[in-house]
Amino acid sequence: MSETNVNIAINGAAGRMGRQLLSAVAERPGTVITAAVDAPGQACIGVDTSVLSGGEPTGVNTSDNVSSVLSAFDTIIDFTAPKVTLALLKSLRGSNKRIVIGTTGFNASQLDEISSAAQELPIVFAANYSIGVTVALSLLEQAAKALGDDYDVEISEAHHHHKVDAPSGTALAMGNAVADALSRDLAQCAVYGREGITGARDPKTIGFATVRAGDIIGEHTVLFAGNGERLEVTHKATDRMTFARGAVRAAHWLSSQSAGLYDMTHVLGIADDKPG
Ligand code: NAD
Repeated sequence: MSETNVNIAINGAAGRMGRQLLSAVAERPGTVITAAVDAPGQACIGVDTSVLSGGEPTGVNTSDNVSSVLSAFDTIIDFTAPKVTLALLKSLRGSNKRIVIGTTGFNASQLDEISSAAQELPIVFAANYSIGVTVALSLLEQAAKALGDDYDVEISEAHHHHKVDAPSGTALAMGNAVADALSRDLAQCAVYGREGITGARDPKTIGFATVRAGDIIGEHTVLFAGNGERLEVTHKATDRMTFARGAVRAAHWLSSQSAGLYDMTHVLGIADDKPG
């Protein structure tokens, strides 16, 4: 192992994303798996991570307790569930660790806990680690500013039937990008689904529609509908490795950053603001 390697742990290593992350770390020069964690009782606990990734043996056995492997890694990549992520942040307080958070579905007070932890820890937090979605967020801001209030905005997303949160974190990030550009507050203007006699559409709203079906990895469309024309910005993920590679890129980038809350625009060097 070279001294320049970033030693990486995966939290949620047995999950759909965790397995891809193990492969993405293995394929990226300068990053190495030195710890893996999943929930107690999982078949992978105490076993080499290669049973999860299908790759070469790493000599790293998956643990069910992050505190017991703290000394083994510099940066931990977490794709789990909100409560698991927040417990992880508590375990990392007072350490010199860095964290890449991919988990979605946090409520407002949980988001505050992440912001507060970032005063002490370097954190990258993005609802979507694909390069395409990061670019789409910039395009949406530009489109919303140019089109203004004359265009109705509707956001639709589709994911696999295992997904537990709705709308997706990516759909909400897209909604926030549009709302900010239009000087609206998403918490006030979002409409999450419609049923019955809804009345005519309020032009200041941003609507969301959700599909959960089969093995869809992640599809998002933001529709700007005006009089006589429609503009659609669509992103389709066809392979989870796109998220995993982005998250590992973020982990590598984070190794030279100080405490703060960063997102993928910082990682790609296209951010127009300072970290939160
Ligand atoms: P998953 O259910 O397949 O995996 C979650 C893993 O976390 C499981 O292996 C589970 O056993 C593990 N886990 C549960 N409790 C734990 C604990 N206490 N300690 C350690 N591990 C624990 O889910 P998934 O499809 O891999 O998605 C995980 C999260 O990542 C979701 O919130 C999803 O929305 C999000 N996600 C984000 C992106 C992105 O680019 N940001 C992309 C895909 C998925």
